Amino acid sequence: MPRHSGTHPGADRHDQRFAELRRQLQDLGYFCKGTILERRMKCGQPHCACHQDPSKRHGPYWEWTYKVQGKTVNVKLTPAAGPTYKAASQQYRKLKSLLSRLERLSRKALAAQAKGAKVGPTC
Ligand SMILES: [Zn+2]
Repeated sequence: MPRHSGTHPGADRHDQRFAELRRQLQDLGYFCKGTILERRMKCGQPHCACHQDPSKRHGPYWEWTYKVQGKTVNVKLTPAAGPTYKAASQQYRKLKSLLSRLERLSRKALAAQAKGAKVGPTC
């Protein structure tokens, strides 16, 4: 039986970075998968300014696009909900990037632990 629980060089650094990333996860707001589109459209009235000037087009019309079991779903959003969903989709991207960083870090930490276990406690 080893007298202490096999700490090894690098473990603290992994722990620290892991805790830091986990804190960022806690700061995460509501999130949603998919893409939020902000569209500006021309109307059917031929003399409307929207036909001449792109900045006079109508909208924005918000649309949320996501996939369920390979099928694309389109949801129309109200002007009030659009920016909220856009922010939520950015949170989702942040979540995914945090998750992949946590996973990469975990892999390194686990490898270091496994290596440490093989040689036994050295400190
Ligand atoms: Zn128009």
